[in-house]
Amino acid sequence: MDCIFCKIAAGEVPCKKVYEDAHTLVFMDIAGDVDGHMLAIPKRHFMNILDCDEETLHGLMCTVKHVSEHLAAHCGYDGVNLLNASGESAGQSVPHFHVHIIPRKTGDGIDAWPVFDGAKLPLDETWKKIRI
Ligand code: AMP
Ligand code: ZN
Repeated sequence: MDCIFCKIAAGEVPCKKVYEDAHTLVFMDIAGDVDGHMLAIPKRHFMNILDCDEETLHGLMCTVKHVSEHLAAHCGYDGVNLLNASGESAGQSVPHFHVHIIPRKTGDGIDAWPVFDGAKLPLDETWKKIRI
């Protein structure tokens, strides 16, 4: 499959590896947009959270937690932003499941929260549509 993150997981394309175990990999994002930007991926190909099985998801989130704890314990950070786009409609550009990890320090001035336009529908209307 012609997937850049599968190739990175297989060692066919180089990456700056931060952490690796049998099923997951964390490496530096090449965007150069914010210090410490990393991507956590499952080594097996899944498009995103919608087709990922629960065991893989569990392993990936444990890896995200492990790296986050490492950042806090040993690298001088005290928080993380975790970002994920699942689906083209959500802005996903690489169709291999990944969680962005952005290490944070108090007062670092990074704004990692999207600026939304404001809700178009009344809260109750959306809530009734999406509640399980
Ligand atoms: P998304 O828009 O959520 O799908 O994010 C895809 C991310 O992958 C972007 O932040 C890119 O900078 C990053 N990216 C694409 N190709 C590579 C690569 N070869 N190595 C590291 N990061 C990459
Ligand atoms: Zn892939």
